[in-house]
Amino acid sequence: MKTFVIVKTHELALKGKNRPWFMRHLVNNLRKATKGTGVQSVWQAHLLVGLTLADEADWPAVRDRVKQCFGVAKFFKAYDIPLDLGKVKEALPPLLEGRSFESFRITASRADKRFPIKSDEICRELGTYVKDLTGARVDLSKPDLQIFLDVLPSGILLYFEEVRGYGGLPVGVSGNVMVMLSGGIDSPVAAWQMMKRGCRANFVHFHSYPLVDKSSIEKSAELAQHLTRHQYGCKLFLAPLADAQKQIIVSTPPAYRVILYRRFMVRITEALARRHGAKAIVTGESCGQVSSQTLENISVIDQAADMPILRPLIGFNKEEIVDLARTIETYPISIQPDQDCCSLFVPRHPETRAALEAVLRMEAGLPVDELVRDAVVNTETREFAFEGLVEQTR
Ligand code: ATP
Ligand code: MG
Repeated sequence: MKTFVIVKTHELALKGKNRPWFMRHLVNNLRKATKGTGVQSVWQAHLLVGLTLADEADWPAVRDRVKQCFGVAKFFKAYDIPLDLGKVKEALPPLLEGRSFESFRITASRADKRFPIKSDEICRELGTYVKDLTGARVDLSKPDLQIFLDVLPSGILLYFEEVRGYGGLPVGVSGNVMVMLSGGIDSPVAAWQMMKRGCRANFVHFHSYPLVDKSSIEKSAELAQHLTRHQYGCKLFLAPLADAQKQIIVSTPPAYRVILYRRFMVRITEALARRHGAKAIVTGESCGQVSSQTLENISVIDQAADMPILRPLIGFNKEEIVDLARTIETYPISIQPDQDCCSLFVPRHPETRAALEAVLRMEAGLPVDELVRDAVVNTETREFAFEGLVEQTR
């Protein structure tokens, strides 16, 4: 029996003239996502994308990978049966084997009205058949098992449960962003949110090695690798901050250090973003979460960049961010202990209302352009590929 995965989109249906372009990205992303899992082909039919599975396909792996592909609203594994209810009856016993259910519901829809049996008659006939076969009863409101039948011109698609995806837009359709990835809980979640809106993300991690150990670098690498499951490859830029920090420490008041570090980070990120074709910077900041994230400080940080700085978590509570980090499985990586560059020589009570004039005065005494240029020159690049694509990129 031919087996498919049928993928339904949501927002893509609203895209009008650009729809073919969005659908093409989704098809390509699904191809990359499912490489090596026994998917024979990925094809498009109007608002659907279909995956044809080989007999030996690894359905749990296909399911996991399709779920992580943005733009997928929901999907299901479907069996292709000839246009004949007798054939449906033949197909059902092996498909129901191993499923335990006391009640079921059949839902049929006839996209092809030339099929001579009406939907409610299909449900009645097959309902009686399944009841006799299994002893389970029909329950239309809360069945243990749902059986769906879509009657198409080419055959009958039979499927059971639908799996929900995350929706959103296929990665790539919205352009590139440069995410400031700290190794903490918030920034990977911020990256995920932007990827869900169709952005392809590359990452910058700032470290103060050798003033601290390499633990934050290794965490950021692990996070970048993890996030490739949504976009199948990415770059991580490891940018040194220690030289800028040393100069800041000797010449500026402690209360302003975090904000000055952050302004250097933003400048270096913007320079890297321009080199690598990103249109915006992304951070994991949330309004009021810590002292550097007051509106006053955010505006002083913004002033250091010309590019838009996007903060997708700005209205999130910490608990909401943590819940999402658990769902997307970045949380266990983020909570590993590390030595973070931002905590270097920072007082317990940093300035919460930095004044731009004061900041500009302090920076006037620093070789800002030179420090930014040196940091960019000394940035190390690491490339990551999704497991299904390792061979291709080697
Ligand atoms: P996170 O959990 O993402 O570390 P946080 O709540 O700890 O966030 P901050 O440490 O104030 O907040 O950092 C705010 C944002 O600045 C981070 O979300 C991240 O985008 C960026 N950032 C902070 N430190 C670094 C770093 N070492 N490298 C790259 N980006 C950083
Ligand atoms: Mg942090």
